[in-house]
Amino acid sequence: MQVCVLGAGTMGHGIAQVAAMAGHDVRLRDIERSYVNDGLDAIRSNLDGGVERDKLSADEADAAFDRIEGVTDLEAAVSGASLVVEAVPEDIDLKQETFRDVEGCADEETVIATNTSSLSVTEIASVLDSPARAVGLHFFNPVHIMGLVEVVLAEQTDADTRAFALSFVDDIDKTAVEVRDAPGFASSRLGVALGCEAMRMVEEGVASADDIDAAMELGYRHPMGPLELTDVVGLDVRLDILEYLREELGERFRPPQVLKRKVRAGNLGKKSGEGFYVWEDGEAVRPADGDTGGDGA
Ligand code: NAD
Repeated sequence: MQVCVLGAGTMGHGIAQVAAMAGHDVRLRDIERSYVNDGLDAIRSNLDGGVERDKLSADEADAAFDRIEGVTDLEAAVSGASLVVEAVPEDIDLKQETFRDVEGCADEETVIATNTSSLSVTEIASVLDSPARAVGLHFFNPVHIMGLVEVVLAEQTDADTRAFALSFVDDIDKTAVEVRDAPGFASSRLGVALGCEAMRMVEEGVASADDIDAAMELGYRHPMGPLELTDVVGLDVRLDILEYLREELGERFRPPQVLKRKVRAGNLGKKSGEGFYVWEDGEAVRPADGDTGGDGA
């Protein structure tokens, strides 16, 4: 099957890679040749890493890589594709424009999917003449490692599109969870709720950041505690999601003061070197000052 992925960034290159590894021919499109090449380089390096770790043979890696064609022309990318997955930046206008442009050059049966992590798939799909072919395929980062894909059913998604999406996810060796289009889907809504409560516990001085995380890691077998995960995701990203969920779902998603304060101070987590932890060489080395107990915020 021919698959088209739009956007060769963090998510797009990963989606192209897993589709090619499952034997599909893939066209990976970005707006500049250099972005396409960066995406292809990242795929090559992931595949080489897989060979080193004995996850696949060198021949399989080469064959998968050869199935991916990098392009900048939208029409060339979409032509003949049974599935188009967009992974362009998280902006409703851009996503809608992309869907509209894709429909303009896609076959009638082509399924058009969005990898949005928070926007309404129903709203993105609303610009299509045939919105029944739209669906959300929410992959997780890094795509070649993470086993989950949320299949997000828009109000307009029809039974054929749903079946196609579920079968594609199975085909690329991932596990699908099926979610009705609702703010935060299943994963972000629950993940953010846990992170939010952990932040309030820090504010109230219930326990230190590292003890709260240890409680979840050792007591509930989470691979990473909710505060360290917030640092990895980015405090600014979590704040945006919380503000959106508060608007859509109510006060239980009101962003904690401690989160707002840190974002205002530029403490965005791992990427800035400090969030709920201080980060050195990609590792959380100690809780940030003030997160070892309550500060009356
Ligand atoms: P990114 O910035 O790494 O990549 C986006 C790419 O899209 C860029 O290379 C950009 O040049 C390209 N682009 C912009 N306009 C385009 C167009 N019209 N056609 C083709 N390419 C275009 O972003 P990302 O992190 O890969 O996120 C992409 C989508 O995936 C967003 O909707 C995001 O919310 C979602 N998502 C991200 C993550 C994550 O952890 N990064 C996880 C799940 C879902």
